Amino acid sequence: MDRYAVVGNPIAHSKSPYIHQWFAEQTGQSLMYEKILVEMTAFDEDVSGFFALGGKGLNVTVPFKEQAFRFADVLTDRARLAGAVNTLALQNDGTVMGDNTDGAGLVADLLVQDWPLSGRRILVLGAGGAVRGIIGPLLEQKPESLLIANRTVKKAMAIAEAFPGGAVGASSYAELEGGFDLVINGTSASLANELPPLPAGLLGAQTAVYDLMYGVGPTAFLRWATEQGVERCSDGLGMLVQQAAEAFYLWRGVRPDTAPVVERLRRLVNAG
Ligand code: NDP
Repeated sequence: MDRYAVVGNPIAHSKSPYIHQWFAEQTGQSLMYEKILVEMTAFDEDVSGFFALGGKGLNVTVPFKEQAFRFADVLTDRARLAGAVNTLALQNDGTVMGDNTDGAGLVADLLVQDWPLSGRRILVLGAGGAVRGIIGPLLEQKPESLLIANRTVKKAMAIAEAFPGGAVGASSYAELEGGFDLVINGTSASLANELPPLPAGLLGAQTAVYDLMYGVGPTAFLRWATEQGVERCSDGLGMLVQQAAEAFYLWRGVRPDTAPVVERLRRLVNAG
């Protein structure tokens, strides 16, 4: 049976094995998917060992996405642009391809929820690994404007500069004003139940708000947005399923139906 896994540190919390098992059941694919805890200094060794023993593909999560980028023999364009890899796939010639499906997953989830991106003014908060992965795919949707704000402004500028023609802007939080159609929280602040230092008046009733993080109930950022009168809020659970579906397609050449898997995962997460 073909072997797949997700690697990270920590890894116990990962929901990827459920998602891929449900995709496999739904599409009649025969595969095994496990989670592997990789020690901080053992990424190359463990991943080489996985493929040497016949493993077919890996998902890569925190903190190894940059290491996976360096490990891959060949990269997709979107992985190269992101500077990070969340999916490794063994190819027929024995080489390992690195891809980044996070941005495609986010865009797919936004479009499934009927949040159009074309012609919209988009603000992205944060400039870490996840944001590096989503800017290219967001830009492909031809928004009217795309701005990155981050606590460490230099990091937002570095990401913006990777895109030609000033297509992506960079800002501090203090400089932000309102007028955005969509605000995406790509910081990890919600993990600590915190908020980025956002100015009052940033959000209006018409703004749609998305947090890459998900959990039981709304994140701190989504709670804050609701208090500001925002009606369209979403967490990142759908993105998690959609990025997994992209990886599944890369490995198996089959596109799973994501909607029932999102529902099933939501029930699992809410059950704790
Ligand atoms: P990183 O550690 O690479 O980046 C963290 C970012 O958050 C940095 O920009 C950092 O700012 C900022 N930040 C952290 N704490 C605060 C705070 N208190 N106030 C303001 N800014 C803060 O993390 P990732 O990019 O890998 O992940 C970001 C989030 O995205 C996580 O919540 C993760 O769970 C989620 N994610 C969800 C996915 C999904 O499929 N749904 C996929 C990938 C990620 P600074 O640069 O100034 O330090």
